Amino acid sequence: IRSSKTPRRLPPKKASNSQKDPVGVYCRVRPLGAEDEECCIEVISNTTIQLHAPDGLKANRNGEFKETQYSFKKVFGIKTTQGELFEDVAKPLVEDIIHCKNGLLFTYGVTGSGKTHTMTGSPGQGGLLPRSLDMIFNSIGPYQAKRYVFKPDDKNGMEVQNQVDALLDRQKRDSQTTVPKTPTTRLIQFADMISPEEACKADGVDEDSSYSVFVSYIEIYNNYIYDLLEETPIDPIKPKPPQSKILREDQNHNMYVAGCTEVEVKSTEEAFEVFWRGQKKRRIANTQLNRESSRSHSVFIIKLAQAPLDADGDNVLQDKNQVNVSQLCLVDLAGSERTSRTRAEGSRLREAGNINQSLMTLRTCIEVLRENQMCGTNKMVPYRDSKVTHLFKNYFDGEGKVRMVVCVNPKADDYEETLLVMRFAEMTQEVEVARPVDRPICGFAAGRRQRNQAFKEELTRRLEERGGPLDGGVCVCLLQSFPPLPPCEISGPNDDVTLPRLIEALEKRHKIRQMMIEEYNKTGKIITLFRAQDSNLLSKENFIQEQRGKLGEKDKMLQNQKNEIDRLEKKSKMLEYKIDILQKTTNIYEEDKRSLQHELESREQRLQREMSEKRRMEARMQGIVTDSKLKWEKECERRVNAKQLEMQNKLWVKDEKLKQLKAIVTEGKTENRQPQRPSREKDKVPGEVFKTRGGGQAVQFTDIETLKQENPVAASRKRRSSETGPDGEPKEGDWTDVETRCSVAVEMRAGSNLGPGYQHHGYPKRRKP
Ligand code: ADP
Ligand code: MG
Repeated sequence: IRSSKTPRRLPPKKASNSQKDPVGVYCRVRPLGAEDEECCIEVISNTTIQLHAPDGLKANRNGEFKETQYSFKKVFGIKTTQGELFEDVAKPLVEDIIHCKNGLLFTYGVTGSGKTHTMTGSPGQGGLLPRSLDMIFNSIGPYQAKRYVFKPDDKNGMEVQNQVDALLDRQKRDSQTTVPKTPTTRLIQFADMISPEEACKADGVDEDSSYSVFVSYIEIYNNYIYDLLEETPIDPIKPKPPQSKILREDQNHNMYVAGCTEVEVKSTEEAFEVFWRGQKKRRIANTQLNRESSRSHSVFIIKLAQAPLDADGDNVLQDKNQVNVSQLCLVDLAGSERTSRTRAEGSRLREAGNINQSLMTLRTCIEVLRENQMCGTNKMVPYRDSKVTHLFKNYFDGEGKVRMVVCVNPKADDYEETLLVMRFAEMTQEVEVARPVDRPICGFAAGRRQRNQAFKEELTRRLEERGGPLDGGVCVCLLQSFPPLPPCEISGPNDDVTLPRLIEALEKRHKIRQMMIEEYNKTGKIITLFRAQDSNLLSKENFIQEQRGKLGEKDKMLQNQKNEIDRLEKKSKMLEYKIDILQKTTNIYEEDKRSLQHELESREQRLQREMSEKRRMEARMQGIVTDSKLKWEKECERRVNAKQLEMQNKLWVKDEKLKQLKAIVTEGKTENRQPQRPSREKDKVPGEVFKTRGGGQAVQFTDIETLKQENPVAASRKRRSSETGPDGEPKEGDWTDVETRCSVAVEMRAGSNLGPGYQHHGYPKRRKP
């Protein structure tokens, strides 16, 4: 049931502005009931209270001592007056409603903590509700529209009627209200609540609009909505249970109580009287139906309809689209305590359960809202789970100010419940509601009402100066200024005096009349001239006002731009700061880079050094290897030579023996024709004996490589150069015949005994003759 704004601005579902304000949560600590009671709340600053567990509880929990602090937008201690509370909490909301913005204010706390005291108050100590009403009427008092000019439709919208229809409606109502308006039992009057010195007024009220206030008063009990202002005769003998109302959504997606009575009120006194009537009805229903008032939520809705005056500043503009409705909801919630505490029984237990349920839903909604806002999630808020939350859905989802006064009683008995209340309050403070945007300015020049008033006053004054308007009364007065008629009774047929005298008098009158007509015409001309001047003046004033309006707009624009500049400046400062930090970071990184580069270079140098060292070592090693190789080659050569020499010697010995053997064989031929093969095994001559062409025998040695004596070094060098490739391997292509290869194989076998440093080089074998 947010503002039933104009259908023209049809989709205001989501606030267009992104600015949000947290729910304003205030805390009011009431005084203790009795002075000797134990107190468990301390106000430690004007935003913080401290709770400490009462003695009994401490003992129960093994002497565990716990103190907790809770912060609020503001804390009001026991000495705070109702006026001070109003000034901080409700006044801004009233200012908002006058400037077409919605507001929701509720009191929360356990039963007896002062919710009703805060909201309604008592005689001499008027609460937020009567004060809000008073401030509204003090502000819009002179600019109120006549009754029935604004007329609520039954769909939460507002229509404008012309003067005549409104007048007819007024007459109809007057004829219907036959019941005496003054109630039999004296209700508490507004004058009892607030003293006139405390009256206050909103600034910046748009004088060129017309206003009307409508109030509704509902009670939500057991999750049913009841209209407390419904005019139904109460049967004292067999009371009929009141009919509950349902919630509906209007075309702007605002929730409202369908068919709820909206009473147009023209003064604080009247509004308060209506409130009190509802209050009385509530009391009666509670008594008759055995209900407990602390278990119900009461909602007092103040609706303010406003529409611009027409261009003349005379009447309300007949355009439904220009009607703006804002509302302030004042809610006195049910006691927040758990069911067990109230020792409720039977049907009351069920009711209590339901009431807890609706407060629980309120808590859940707040929780989900907070989570959605803080974590960017999009969980569904269960507004529909209870009537209270469903009714206020638009406040949390749309735009407007939401404020909560958390009432606490510092007595020890309430400690545990108070802890729960504090937790709820903490959570609520974290929920944000979109800030309402300013209403667009209507196209007419400002100051219409005043000019119209001034014009009317001036007209009356001038007419009065001239002797009032030219109606019957004026004629009588003019007739008296004519010269009196002479006696016109004719004395006889010869009377020739009377008639001429009469003629003369009449002629005189006729002349005066002519003169007067002339005068009148002249005055008329002057008046038309005056009127022309007036309208001229008026249009000039209009123009000036228009310009003033434009100037105001320009001023506003300028202000906006200034704000924007401020914002940008702040942002640029912020960015500069960031750049500074980034610069510093870059510097640090660059320094790092430089030092790393430095290190890299030094390492590279070291590596280079090590590499050259390695190369040097390699060269040295190569040298050593070559040296030792040469040494070993020499050694091998030496050994080979020695062996050769030895073998030559042996060969020589064998040759000798062979010669001797030959001699023996030649000798033996003569004695023994069967030649005896010499026992080679016995002699171990490594060779083969074969027949020569000449008929003799020869031995070929297979174990000896070289029999020719040569300079070993020169021979080896020669061999290497001719027999090996560039890689030192034997050049196979150099071998020419199979025989040679075979002998190499033999050599290789034999070479394996030669010791280290020996390389298997194939030596061409020399054939022995
Ligand atoms: P609730 O509505 O929370 O159940 P009430 O407003 O009815 O509580 O307060 C219970 C009693 O305490 C009332 O008699 C009321 O006058 C008194 N009280 C509450 N708050 C204050 C206060 N701040 N100063 C003085 N009396 C208070
Ligand atoms: Mg109460």
